[in-house]
Amino acid sequence: AEKIQMNVPLVEMDGDEMTRVIWQDIKDILLTPYIDLKTVYYDLGLKKRDETDDRITVEAAEATKKYGVAVKCATITPNAQRVEEYDLKQMWKSPNATIRAILDGTVFRTPVIVKNIKPFVKTWEEPITIARHAYGDVYKGVEMKLSAKGKAEIVFTGEDGQITREVIHDFDGPGIVMAMHNVDKSIGSFARACFNYALDQGQDLWFATKDTISKKYDHNFKDIFQDIYDDEYEDKFKAAGIEYFYTLIDDAVARVIRSSGGFIWACKNYDGDVMSDMVATAFGSLAMMTSVLVSPEGYFEYEAAHGTVTRHYYQYLKGEETSTNPVATLFAWTGALRKRGELDGISSLVQFSGDLEQAALNTIEAGVMTKDLAILAEGEKKIVNTREFLQEIKARLRK
Ligand code: NAD
Repeated sequence: AEKIQMNVPLVEMDGDEMTRVIWQDIKDILLTPYIDLKTVYYDLGLKKRDETDDRITVEAAEATKKYGVAVKCATITPNAQRVEEYDLKQMWKSPNATIRAILDGTVFRTPVIVKNIKPFVKTWEEPITIARHAYGDVYKGVEMKLSAKGKAEIVFTGEDGQITREVIHDFDGPGIVMAMHNVDKSIGSFARACFNYALDQGQDLWFATKDTISKKYDHNFKDIFQDIYDDEYEDKFKAAGIEYFYTLIDDAVARVIRSSGGFIWACKNYDGDVMSDMVATAFGSLAMMTSVLVSPEGYFEYEAAHGTVTRHYYQYLKGEETSTNPVATLFAWTGALRKRGELDGISSLVQFSGDLEQAALNTIEAGVMTKDLAILAEGEKKIVNTREFLQEIKARLRK
């Protein structure tokens, strides 16, 4: 059969350790036999980042702006131990943080669901996608530990020199204080990314804060979302038959647990941090969580939510076969290829992406899976190594 042709290349960002090995296997076994795969390749492996003083990461992000769609392998974020292990010039920043800063994006995380792995929450039938605001709040907080009596104040000095101040607390003994901030521009970008993604997916969007208690801070988030929705999205949502729904965060949590899933849940930075772990765990496994960074301009970067699976890589280096789960990395590829197909009007690419995903789900639902899933799955199970698993998917794809 003829291979599927692409017009515009994907931006391909290679990565580290076990996921780098899986990256190549996915391409060799499941992609290049069927697609005339066009990519512009950036090696974000730690060695290359060090060699280029991390310019390669910036170039990859810039290329994403040029071409529109990227697919990224998991990468090492260096710590002191990695600086030694790789003899690094310096402790380079997280590539994801660098890329996010350049694309100004919002990250959407979605679990891949199979019939034989039941979510811990019985009512959940469809995936819940968490959108996490990636700027500010406690992550940019300024904190003080106070050791004695005194008055803490919050002071704003305007550009014109005008001063506004407010007492936080009159301390009569030791205590703690924190100030945090956000900016309307970032909240607006977050809101637009969420509204756009909801339209893209054809799913309802939920958003929640604690605006009853935080009458200015959280209320500002609520107002910005509502204003943008009213001005720019209400008609589009109506036409698409989807809903924007705002509620209090505690009400949202209760509703999420009782829901059957199938919607996007936009969360403030801290809420998203906490809730994405809750949702991932309740659905089963980190190895089944996909992630896409969506910029307000409409650039997409697809990846797995997990890291480089270091423990397996050390086994691999000893010559052992590993049973590492490639599903989230595979779905990063299919997500990117589908998006490319949609943008370029290549229906065979869209079709192929769906078929490949279905073949992966069918494989697991037939009881053939990697070790991490075997502890979670019900029914008959056959544990295979990564390459056998990819071959099993290929066999089902051919059918
Ligand atoms: P990790 O996601 O690699 O592993 C966490 C745990 O989940 C481990 O027990 C691992 O065995 C298991 N696991 C994760 N993915 C799996 C898979 N596909 N199949 C089977 N088991 C899987 O996270 P970590 O151990 O905290 O970090 C390892 C490296 O990954 C670090 O250097 C870190 O900087 C990097 N990291 C990168 C990203 C990214 O690029 N997006 C995200 C997180 C961590």
